[in-house]
Order: sequence, then C-alpha cells, then structure tokens
Amino acid sequence: SFITIQEGCDKFCKFCVVPYTRGPEFSRNHKKIIDEVKSLADKGTKEIILLGQNVSSYNDNNISLAKLIKKISKIDDIKRIRFTTSHPNDFDDELISLFEEEPKLMPQLHLPVQSGSDKILKLMNRNHTCHDYLNLIDRFRNKRSDIQFSSDFIVGYPGETNSDHQDTINLIKKVGFSLSYSFIYSQRPGTPSTNFNEISKEITKKRLEQLQTILFQQQLEFNNLMVNKENNVLFENKTQDKEQFFGRNQYMVPVFV
Ligand code: SF4
Repeated sequence: SFITIQEGCDKFCKFCVVPYTRGPEFSRNHKKIIDEVKSLADKGTKEIILLGQNVSSYNDNNISLAKLIKKISKIDDIKRIRFTTSHPNDFDDELISLFEEEPKLMPQLHLPVQSGSDKILKLMNRNHTCHDYLNLIDRFRNKRSDIQFSSDFIVGYPGETNSDHQDTINLIKKVGFSLSYSFIYSQRPGTPSTNFNEISKEITKKRLEQLQTILFQQQLEFNNLMVNKENNVLFENKTQDKEQFFGRNQYMVPVFV
C-alpha cells in the first residue's frame, strides 16, 4: 500500500513545477499516518511505501521520516517499508543509519541526481555537487553494503555540453544503479528554465541513447546477480493471463513465478 505523508516542495529546482503547483512542503500528522498504516495492516497490507514529493524532508512536530519509520516498523504485520522520492540534501545520520538498524526498511533507495555535471546541477538549482552525491552514496553503503540505488536523469538540460554529458556517464559508472529513469529535457510552462535555450533534438536523442545503454547494462548486470540466489519476494498479484504470480524482491526487482 502507498501512503502519501508529505506534499509540496521548497527546493525550487529550475525545471520543476511542483513548488508552483503543490506549494510549500507540508507533512501530514504522524498519528493519523500510523492509524492508517494499522488499518491497512489489519486488511492484509504487508508493505508500506511512504510517498511525498520530497519525502525525506518529512517532519511533523519533530517526528522526522526516520522516527516515523521506526514507529511503523513496530507494527508486527508490516514486513517491509520503503519511501520515495527524496532530494539528496535531506538525509540526516538517523535516516541513513536506519538502513543498517531496521531490517524492515528495504535496501533500495530512489535517489534522483538528474546530472553528473556540477555546472548543470548549479544551473538546475539542485544545491548539491556530484561530490556531495557520491559522498552520500558512500555513507549509505557504509551502513548497508547491499543497498541499491535507482535514480532519475534529465538529458540535454539547457547548457549541457558533451563534456557535461560525459560527467554524467562518469557518475553513473561510479555509482552503478540497479534501476534508472532517464528523459530528454522538456520545458514545463511556468518554470524558470523555460527561458533557457534548448539543445537540438538530434544531440539530445544521441545522448539519451548512450545513457540508457549504460543504465540498462547496469540493471541487467545487477539482475543477473540474482540468478540462482535465494530471494525474499513479496508477491502482489497474478499476471493478467492468470498464469503467473508477480512480486518484487527486497531490491525492487520484479519476480515472476
Ligand atoms: Fe522539489 Fe524534486 Fe521538484 Fe526539485 S525536482 S523542486 S526537489 S519536487
């Protein structure tokens, strides 16, 4: 079950409409969330995915996301907890350490980086550098060595040169993502980056293909590590043809039986 616990965003990335359409960050009352989780658990929910536009900034009366997860993990029938989507600047030590301390928190995190070029990150107003991002990845891995990361990439952001694109590829190779989503930059009306000059479609298409080839290869390599391994799978439903069961292992890899 998915539960929205947070809405809005104060980050103002220059390509994003969320701060304008959803307004400032707002966190739902934690007691109401816990009641909702308990009621879902009574109806059979085993996994909770906490949702928010900027979920790691959750804070309700000093109950942070880490504290909320600790409370949810005490509910016996809930076996798995995940959260999405996060900004890299909103992780404190308590939340990072939870991946080591709390077995119900699944070892897979969606951590959008968007670009591997410091210049582009600055133009996007992401307020972190590649070094910050890689440092954060290390901090997670030091706590939980098997943790896997997925990410989002915007290809061909205005101002992106071949060298910036290469920086993104270098970052992807350094991290090794188990899953990723990549898109060609497209203007969102009302956002500051609509005033920037766009890069030609021909160039961005080539860059996207190059990026996706590497990301797909990484995903395949990771999935191949699962072959002949014992996996913990939560089965969710039957496939449309009713011939198979569909589930996901702890790293979000789809499993069909
Ligand atoms: Fe906020 Fe994410 Fe949009 Fe940036 S991309 S403004 S962090 S919702």
